[in-house]
Amino acid sequence: MPSIKTTIKAQPTIFVIFGGTGDLNWRKLAPAIYNLYLENSLPENFAIIGTGRTKLSDEEFREKLLEGINKFSRRGKADKKDWAQFCHHVFYQISDVQKEETYTELRGRIEKLAKDWKQEPQVIYYLAVSPNFFPVIARNIASHKLSENVDNTRLVFEKPFGHDLESSKALNQLLGELFDEKQIYRIDHYLGKETVQNIMAFRFANSLFEPLWNRNHIEHVQISVTEQLGVGDRGGYYEGAGALRDMVQNHLLQLLCLIAMEAPTNFGAEEVRNRKVDVLHAMRRFSKEEVRLNAVRGQYGQGWIEGKEVPGYREEEGVDPDSNTETFAAAKFFIDNWRWQGVPFYVRTGKRMHQTASVISIQFKDVPHFIFPPETTETWQQNRLVISIQPEMSIRLQLQAKRPGLEMVLNTVDMVFDYKGTYAFEAPEAYETLLLDTMVGDQTLFMRADQVEAAWDLLMPILNAWQAKKSLNFPNYSADSWGPEVAEALIARDGFHWFSLPLSTKKYTKDGEHI
Ligand code: NAP
Repeated sequence: MPSIKTTIKAQPTIFVIFGGTGDLNWRKLAPAIYNLYLENSLPENFAIIGTGRTKLSDEEFREKLLEGINKFSRRGKADKKDWAQFCHHVFYQISDVQKEETYTELRGRIEKLAKDWKQEPQVIYYLAVSPNFFPVIARNIASHKLSENVDNTRLVFEKPFGHDLESSKALNQLLGELFDEKQIYRIDHYLGKETVQNIMAFRFANSLFEPLWNRNHIEHVQISVTEQLGVGDRGGYYEGAGALRDMVQNHLLQLLCLIAMEAPTNFGAEEVRNRKVDVLHAMRRFSKEEVRLNAVRGQYGQGWIEGKEVPGYREEEGVDPDSNTETFAAAKFFIDNWRWQGVPFYVRTGKRMHQTASVISIQFKDVPHFIFPPETTETWQQNRLVISIQPEMSIRLQLQAKRPGLEMVLNTVDMVFDYKGTYAFEAPEAYETLLLDTMVGDQTLFMRADQVEAAWDLLMPILNAWQAKKSLNFPNYSADSWGPEVAEALIARDGFHWFSLPLSTKKYTKDGEHI
């Protein structure tokens, strides 16, 4: 059964991609638009206009996109016949976003397409460029009257949206003066991931969990997004960002909101976003002293990953050899409302970690009374719900069960819902979902101005404290580890430890060994 979204045929659509020659378009946007085309989700009349300063012909630009699609599309290499039809919709405009003539030329191209199609198209301006260019592009789009029709023109802003509270407010104010909020799509691609979208379905389409989803039954929550990769060739950008800005401000806090939000009254964009921003408003702001107790940072040193020596962060290209930028951040947050009072939410993220995994673990409180003798419960574990976003896409409920045998021995077992085992087809990439949402005008999975600002507001005390005080022990964790010792201490103080992704292939032997 097709969903409602895919049955809405968008009107003729032009994607203008600022940063057409960049990495994001190459790896993510072009493959996503191509897949939407193959899914028959694009209107008959559509065009992609990529822009950049690099001198390319339409043909050369198409070749570059094809290379990206062949390399990165979830569907593998493009079929020759399909590509031959698709590529006629792709154009390139050599231009500098800082120059007036860029926008005059764009206007001409859009008008020509509208004339050819005999219908006014909707135009989606995708800003896949450095955030420094957001204001200049936005101003020019508005001043060249390229966004006058508020129902037909949309702008998509990539992260990072602002560098701190002040800059995000300034950017929101500028955009608010130039456009209607319904034209503004602040993307956080995590929200387009299937497993992330499923959190809403899991929580609000099942009656089973809601009675347990509160401080009476949940002991603590962990949100862990770790990567094996280092900063690679993005050192220059990362130096000015760090883990807190790059990951916590957006992806991790959005995951936290999905777990902690109250039930919306409907699935409308405003209602869902209102309930999410309520969470951010209820999160406890740290004083200076509380920052020291509740937030820790790390920076990776050199080490070995899968038998290969890898450089430390300070040795990476574009990185200051004395850098104070954190590549790891962990924090313990509280949400001051009736549902969550006293329940710690631990979040952590880091680069060059032992595993690439995004996992949310909800640890339930222990049984009120043990009836089994101690020897039967060697591997006792409290009930835990594990939502794995990547690489494994699954939800596991960890329970105690009797191990087969003549004696009464208990083991922790998993009830698993995994996408691979359940569905005989592949899930769309996050960018496919989000681009389609942009086309049909659904802002549910995009960040509203007040959400972005509330997230910055929450993190400002930590950012300020870390900037004001240089870390004296950087680098403090080695590649292929689980981060610095201070992160273990942060959670161990409360009697807990960080959970890592359970391996689905593990089985118990008769002796209770987990192999
Ligand atoms: P990138 O590879 O460095 O691409 C930058 C793009 O900007 C290039 O197409 C470049 O084209 C264009 N550009 C630079 N100066 C220009 C100018 N004066 N006029 C016109 N075009 C100009 O960067 P990216 O990785 O694609 O990232 C783009 C944005 O997406 C950034 O905001 C980034 O934070 C965000 N983002 C990227 C990823 C990712 O996976 N790459 C993920 C999440 C968010 P020319 O050199 O041809 O001018």
